Formats: sequence, C-alpha cells, structure tokens
Amino acid sequence: MARLIILGSAAAVSDAEHDNTHFLLEGDRGDVVLVDCGSNPLPKLERCGIEPGQLQAMILTHFHPDHVSGVPILLMQLWVLGRQHPLHIYGLHHCLQRVQALMLDGFQWDTWPNFFPVIFHTLPEQPDVSLLENDDFAIRCWPTKHFIPTIGLRIEVKTSRKIVAYSCDTEPIPHIVELARDADLLLHEATGASFGHSSAAQAGQVATQAGARRLVLVHYDGRQKDPLPLVSEARATFAGPVERAEDFQEFLL
Ligand SMILES: [Zn+2]
Ligand SMILES: [Zn+2]
Repeated sequence: MARLIILGSAAAVSDAEHDNTHFLLEGDRGDVVLVDCGSNPLPKLERCGIEPGQLQAMILTHFHPDHVSGVPILLMQLWVLGRQHPLHIYGLHHCLQRVQALMLDGFQWDTWPNFFPVIFHTLPEQPDVSLLENDDFAIRCWPTKHFIPTIGLRIEVKTSRKIVAYSCDTEPIPHIVELARDADLLLHEATGASFGHSSAAQAGQVATQAGARRLVLVHYDGRQKDPLPLVSEARATFAGPVERAEDFQEFLL
C-alpha cells in the first residue's frame, strides 16, 4: 500500500518532537517523493525504511526556511553517499531560483566534484497545473494565499485512486477548496488565523466545503502538547474525522 509519512508537523518553530512540516510519499510501484525539506530528512528516510537512492523527486512548495532549510544538507549527503542518478526538484520560479542561488552563490556546488544531476522543473503560478506524474502518483498544484508565491497540492494515488490534498501555508481561499474537492485525506495547515495562514476552525470549514472525508491538521504550534484544543476547534466546523498529525505518523493510501 502507498504511504504518506509525516516527517515534520510544526509551523515555523520546531521542537524536539515536531520538526518543521514536510512529508514523504511512497508508492506501491517504488516511487518516492519528498514534499518540502525540513531540517535534515535523510536520517528520517532511513528510519522509515527508505534507502537514500530511492528518492526520485522533491517538491518545494515555497521558499520559507521552515520548508526548504534541509535542501543543502540533503543534496550534500546524497552526493557524499555517491549518488549518480538525477534528482528532480519541482517548484515555482520564486522558490527554485532562490534554491539555485543558495547552492551556487552560497555553497558553490558547481565546485563539488562528480555532483549528480539535479533537474529543476519550474511550474507556472496558475491553478490546476499538472506538477508531476510517475507510476504511482499524479500530482497537481494550485497557488495558495501566503506571503510569497506558494503552492498547495492534490495528489492522486494511482493504485488505489485515493486523493490526498495538502493546503500548504495559506489563508482560506477558493483554490484550497478546489484542490481538496472530495479528497480522501485533507492535510491542512493550522498555524492560527492570521495573514497568510489558517486556523483549525478555518481548516474544518475548507474540509466541509470541499467534501473531504478526513481532516489531518499539520503546520501547528508544536509547543502546544495537548492535541485536543486544536482538534476540537476543527470539529466545530467539520463533521468528519479530525486528527492532529504527529512526526513519523503514517497514513496508508
Ligand atoms: Zn510554513
Ligand atoms: Zn510559509
């Protein structure tokens, strides 16, 4: 069965139990895709039984440190481990251009000998764009409403036909309802109601409007140890099952 594994569940401030929000998709046919890149994903992949060489693609939703801080260390570790096959990185121009500048101007990766090919795929900032299609997943993206250009995702698992939606960082806007339409699992941020973000109650509203079957709250304040207040807030606006994602939690798809 395909798996979605939460590698981090916290908003901008991480703690010992909650890394910044990022997750892994592993398909039945062997495709492995990382969505965002928290502090240091490689040891986490190992813990989940994924070999570093299995990682084929990485989607970067936007260029905020809590979503891209692990990119340089991941690339360096894959290189030191002797990777030769390409890694595909998907994102908007705003994000990919900065990742390339960070690696080139900051880390001078052009001087790292025998560095494996990194192939950047720049996505248009438009609704309902086909982002990636492989044997396991068909992934589409929509622009969200955040401080900088950002995308949310709609992921179809080809073997089970299950739909996973990921709001990413956003205020509630119609695009999020669109990408979450009839989703089996909606992974929605719950930073709190503010410019560029959503509360758990707003996440519940989106889940209701979209007809999602299950709501999983992510990108929350991990310093709040008790999940119940956040979950109760979303239950007030969504009648289906609600839970708070925790690091290393797995969802079978
Ligand atoms: Zn964030
Ligand atoms: Zn952000």
